Amino acid sequence: MKRTEPEITRIPEQKCPMCGKKLDATMEATEGKGAPEPGNYMICAGCASVLIFAEDNRFRPLTLEEAENLAHDEEAREQITEAVRRIRGMNAGLN
Ligand SMILES: [Zn+2]
Repeated sequence: MKRTEPEITRIPEQKCPMCGKKLDATMEATEGKGAPEPGNYMICAGCASVLIFAEDNRFRPLTLEEAENLAHDEEAREQITEAVRRIRGMNAGLN
């Protein structure tokens, strides 16, 4: 196992609201250190859906307003696009 994936953050296990995959770790889409904070974006490692952290490290789908904000946040979009690409690449490698 390589240790070159600092984006992985352990979280209390919960299911992805989009694909139902059990997740106990997340890949942060945006630059950040340590535990995710409310409002941070995250990408499901199973289906590469964009989710957002609420309180207590729980995550949920973006609201329309949040999706609108993201649409105008070019930097976050680039990071999310990169993270989605990596997740899809990793998932393809598992087949
Ligand atoms: Zn998912």
